[in-house]
Amino acid sequence: MRASTYPLVDAEEAAALVLERTHVLPPERVALGEAAGRVLAQDMRAPSALPAFPSSAVDGFAARAADAGRSLRIVGESAAGRPFAGRLELGTAARILTGGAVPEGADTVVMVEDVSVAGEVVTVPSNLQPGTNFHRPGADVRAGELVLSAGIQLGAAELGLAAALGFANVEVYMRPRVVLMSTGDELVEVGKESGPGQIVDSNRWALLAALREAGADVSSLGIAPDEREALRTMVVGALEAADVLVTSGGVSVGTHDLVKPLLESLGNVHVGRVKLKPGKPFTFATLPHGKLAFGLPGFPVSSLVTFEVFVRPALRKLQGFSKLQRPTLPVRLGYDARATADRTEYQRVTLVREGSELVGRTTGSQSSSRLLSLVGAQALVRIAPGDVGVKAGTVVEAMILSLP
Ligand code: AMP
Ligand code: MG
Repeated sequence: MRASTYPLVDAEEAAALVLERTHVLPPERVALGEAAGRVLAQDMRAPSALPAFPSSAVDGFAARAADAGRSLRIVGESAAGRPFAGRLELGTAARILTGGAVPEGADTVVMVEDVSVAGEVVTVPSNLQPGTNFHRPGADVRAGELVLSAGIQLGAAELGLAAALGFANVEVYMRPRVVLMSTGDELVEVGKESGPGQIVDSNRWALLAALREAGADVSSLGIAPDEREALRTMVVGALEAADVLVTSGGVSVGTHDLVKPLLESLGNVHVGRVKLKPGKPFTFATLPHGKLAFGLPGFPVSSLVTFEVFVRPALRKLQGFSKLQRPTLPVRLGYDARATADRTEYQRVTLVREGSELVGRTTGSQSSSRLLSLVGAQALVRIAPGDVGVKAGTVVEAMILSLP
């Protein structure tokens, strides 16, 4: 083992540094059917009002409020998509169906339940109010109104609204193309028999899922050996068609840890060690053509926690999200959290509701190899370095992964 030459960077500082070096990818136009989950790259204003015309909210009769209490001649019908052609004069009414356009001249719609019909004559109640039972033009969306802002994720409601306003295509940011590989001579593919001293490559499957959840377009490249030239060839080849490289393992200080020197030879290593537990060997580099490289530690929990703290916000920035971080909520600690002297610790907790509060319970041993500490974890609790820790019962602001 040799001592690392990289300074220990504050975890928050390292996170800020990563984001500073991360640039938003260019936009592209996609059809609505391809846009779900993507991040809008344009401010979307309504080209016209919604509804575009006064449309009936009920089945009944379009009439004039001035004709209250009178018997009116039925002069036609306005159904959805088949409007009444003429203008409604005093003393007349038109049958109207839900979604039908309120005819010109009419100022109210009377529900069918409130009238009596005899032949081609309808008698309307004496308490008619203008403006009743129909949606006014622009009541939902005004023409020119800003309805969707760049930086939001397009979900069901957003895509429905875009379609209603006539947008068949939308501008979204490109998704980051990420190449993912595991490094380590001890690793074997899942499903293959492992020999003495070998372990299954689990990080790649965990990170593949995490990357996809974060919106990345991932190529999973397999296992790179702890061999300088082979690793270099694999990384250089992979980077050609990628924006981001994510590796796991090979960033400690052992003689077989080759990722840092490789990234140094390809670009600039900005972070080589962080005051973070788990995840001290986390490495971040920028490479030519604005590409980013994240060398995540090998221990499974370390790789996922550093992913959460450093990689996920960067991936969100690349694809144009205006909100980069997980939400936080006040959580009352349900256990005594011991601090680590020199590193910020992200402890994994489950959440339970107690009255109006969320209480965080530890997921058990927080060992960096124990993936079970992340299974079912609903929040990460940040424990500042020092010798004090945080006592049970204290309310802390926790990073929320999912809610109970
Ligand atoms: P390293 O940083 O390469 O020294 O890795 C530290 C430890 O993390 C290794 O000794 C393994 O126990 C574990 N590890 C590394 N890579 C993986 C992987 N892809 N999947 C599961 N565990 C891993
Ligand atoms: Mg290794």
